Amino acid sequence: MNRPYNFSAGPAAIPEAVLQQAAAEMLDWQGSGMGVMEMSHRGKEFISIYQRAEADLRTLLAVPANFKILFMQGGGLGENAVVPLNLSRAGTVDVVVTGSWSQKSAKEARRYASTVNIAASNEADGHRSIPEASGWQLSRGASYVHLCSNETIHGVEFQTLPDLQALGSDAPLVIDFSSHVASRPVDWSKVGLAFGGAQKNLGPAGLTLVVVREDLIGHALPICPSAFDYQLVADNDSMYNTPPTWGIYVAGLVFQWLLRQTEGDLTGIAAMEARNIAKARRLYDFIDGSQLYMNPVAPEARSRMNIPFLLRDESRNDAFLAGAKARGLLQLKGHKSVGGMRASLYNAMPMAGVEALVAYLRDFEKEQA
Ligand SMILES: *Cc1c(COP(=O)(O)O)cnc(C)c1O
Repeated sequence: MNRPYNFSAGPAAIPEAVLQQAAAEMLDWQGSGMGVMEMSHRGKEFISIYQRAEADLRTLLAVPANFKILFMQGGGLGENAVVPLNLSRAGTVDVVVTGSWSQKSAKEARRYASTVNIAASNEADGHRSIPEASGWQLSRGASYVHLCSNETIHGVEFQTLPDLQALGSDAPLVIDFSSHVASRPVDWSKVGLAFGGAQKNLGPAGLTLVVVREDLIGHALPICPSAFDYQLVADNDSMYNTPPTWGIYVAGLVFQWLLRQTEGDLTGIAAMEARNIAKARRLYDFIDGSQLYMNPVAPEARSRMNIPFLLRDESRNDAFLAGAKARGLLQLKGHKSVGGMRASLYNAMPMAGVEALVAYLRDFEKEQA
């Protein structure tokens, strides 16, 4: 039996092979007599799970040796506080606002930084574009520059990361890559810290990934909770306190699944990127060519992962969602702040799911004509 296609923005679909393996190992992980949720995080079984997950993620994302991978908790919104607690040095933070998530980051940083400067914003156009980097108003001596590299709600994605040095800033770049991590490569030469909740593209909610350059560790404010001090977390291999063991295990299975993926000559993240480009193009092309549906985002800023779209006749929204559900196309309702629909095409969504969605979009449009 085929499972329905799940277009949720998060928590979101997980590759079926991963769910199968986690189910098969639920009561007895590899002859240990214990399920992963029941193991001590300090036992040799869990340590082996942790070490493999960390190594596989480092390979997948090509994380350089001078970056630490931290498996934390608190989610993306937790990091909106944890990052300034660790990196702001109570100084100035620059934020580039491109949608709801970066706006939230700016607001939270104000609690810890002395000044939060909005270096650029696309608010005037309703968060439908990426502000040209050459026009950003970066502060001299900022502690860091924050941006959200994929805005999950507005469907706006940075196709390339800015080179801050070329823009005259010595500050490290912090990216919130919650909703497109592992969908494309990361240019670590431009990044000081990347964070993301796992529940969009890596695995279960409860695990928060932080990848941070070593020289940025060790500057936490005195008020920073110990469990969120990157120095303590790094020094203890993410086990200063109990890490989200189940989340690390399932994400580790997702990393193994990603490493196995191929697309022509491509493997791993490169294979996923090729698929993600093709999936997004298929859906955007259909939406752009239709009379009923529309996507308001500037073409060069459109997200490959989260594709919001509107029905030009909003009175049909409920019928659209009911019909989608009946065809096994789940969780297409848009975020309440923007309305309409949203299709999230994370790594676990195959092209066949996008084809099924496009077929439904076409049929629904014809039916109503
Ligand atoms: C979902 C999301 C968040 C919030 O994550 P939580 O785990 O709910 O705190 C933050 N940033 C982005 C870009 C997201 O997509």
